[in-house]
Amino acid sequence: MNRDSVAIIGAGIGGLVVGAYCAQRGFRVEVFEQSQQAGGCCQSFTRKEHRFDAAASIFIGLGDRGYNPLYQMYKEFSHGPKSIELEPSFKIMKNGSVIRVHGDFDHYLRDLEEHIPCASGQMRAYYKRIGKIRKAIDRLPFHRPFRFSAQLGWFLKNFWTIPLFIVNDNRSIFDVLKRSVTSSVLRSVIEAQLQVFAMDNIRDCPAILGALLFTELHRGGIYYPQGGSGELTRSLVKTINAHGGMIHYTATVTEIIVRNGSVRGLKLADGNSIDTSLVVSNASAWSTFGKLVDKQHVPDKLLNRVHNLKPTSSVFIIYLSMERQFTEGGFDVHNIWSAGDGLPAMMLSIPSLIDNGAAPIGKHAGMLYTEAQYSNWKSKSDYQERKRIETERILGMIEKRVPGFRASTEVLATSTPISIERHTGRDFGSIGGPKSNLEQWQARNLPNRTPIKGLFLAGDSTFPGAGVVAVTVSGMMTADEILAMS
Ligand SMILES: Cc1cc2nc3c(=O)[nH]c(=O)nc-3n(C[C@H](O)[C@H](O)[C@H](O)COP(=O)(O)OP(=O)(O)OC[C@H]3O[C@@H](n4cnc5c(N)ncnc54)[C@H](O)[C@@H]3O)c2cc1C
Repeated sequence: MNRDSVAIIGAGIGGLVVGAYCAQRGFRVEVFEQSQQAGGCCQSFTRKEHRFDAAASIFIGLGDRGYNPLYQMYKEFSHGPKSIELEPSFKIMKNGSVIRVHGDFDHYLRDLEEHIPCASGQMRAYYKRIGKIRKAIDRLPFHRPFRFSAQLGWFLKNFWTIPLFIVNDNRSIFDVLKRSVTSSVLRSVIEAQLQVFAMDNIRDCPAILGALLFTELHRGGIYYPQGGSGELTRSLVKTINAHGGMIHYTATVTEIIVRNGSVRGLKLADGNSIDTSLVVSNASAWSTFGKLVDKQHVPDKLLNRVHNLKPTSSVFIIYLSMERQFTEGGFDVHNIWSAGDGLPAMMLSIPSLIDNGAAPIGKHAGMLYTEAQYSNWKSKSDYQERKRIETERILGMIEKRVPGFRASTEVLATSTPISIERHTGRDFGSIGGPKSNLEQWQARNLPNRTPIKGLFLAGDSTFPGAGVVAVTVSGMMTADEILAMS
């Protein structure tokens, strides 16, 4: 591969975004993907005519408002999927109350106040505080091209926002919330949303990240790509192919060859090698530095940092066929049960309610998940039997909350933290790579550049962290670094 060529390890959204921008700018792009399908966590699969999202199903940044890098990117590539806005975005169930999170803020407050009389005043005070943080975030040059020169210009123009970032840098969103929201029920409703959004606990989530996410619910909204999450991936693959790039499937990279501190090539599991001086790893930081690069080439400080990164949680997923009559009227597209009465938090997504092609006549396709410990699934003994028992245990818990659920559903597939790890190469089966908590987020995230010349990272191991919109931004930042060099 020549100088203006780039080899990308992994066809997750992070890797594909880099590939699409580089291919569009004339780079020769080759993507090496270990599985038979592109997308990593952002792909769809079919069972008995039901289409499921393998993992990601809730999307921000796809609409024409708010902070919308996905929308901007697909507009630029002109292969974008059609997106459906969800209104309300979530249905939250807590101690018998049902609260719907509407994009329209006043509507949301009215709904909240039916269940929690003090909600309106407390929420307005909370949103006023996070609104100030959001105002400062909106001044950031957080859009393409991500260049140092743009940041310098920003710094000079927006000097006044710096103290706000400094003050909030070490605060969690809970630190902000507790000043305005004293109702424990209201706090738990907010917490349930954050669990889904930031994949973390409200006490660990950085205030700046939390402020962005909560305000975005009402500015940009929540979307679903028609045709499923795999459509987001397919659009990027189309862009890469349209510009002469290639995706190699079932092509597992086993080594990034480094000599004298610079990338020299890749080794593949089939024994082939690729000569290249420019590699983007969309594999996790744990895999990139723990397995793909020989440790002798990685500074000890970085190795320790990566080794000590705490992963986001992992989940057990049940993919369900649901009776149409039972489902319609009873459920929204995204249903969250917050933890309570001895039952854990759970999430049920039913995109076929708004995307007709996702299920056959008379049925709906649902994805139900709840937190699961990776360590509990490591043992191979009785794996299938344990999966069956866990499935029935979880469905039994839903039955307690929604009588008739078990009899109206058929299990078509399940997924454990181990199967997520196996299919996507994600260490610990983590849903979002390293946690975006106070210790690991922002300047403490891994950057896209590495100390190895010619090796870059893209994906949820890097800033800005977990989620499809975040890895899109990570991919854009990496692409811009590469394009600026050429
Ligand atoms: C169950 C679950 C639910 C989620 N829900 C949401 C949601 O609703 N909304 C949201 O925004 N986010 C969600 N996320 C998080 C989001 O999906 C991820 O943060 C994001 O998609 C990660 O993208 P990525 O490109 O970093 O990595 P990945 O999607 O993990 O892609 C990495 C790719 O690299 C390949 N690869 C790895 N190692 C190698 C190798 N050595 N050789 C070749 N190929 C390799 C893998 O096969 C994979 O295709 C969810 C995640 C999970 C697991």
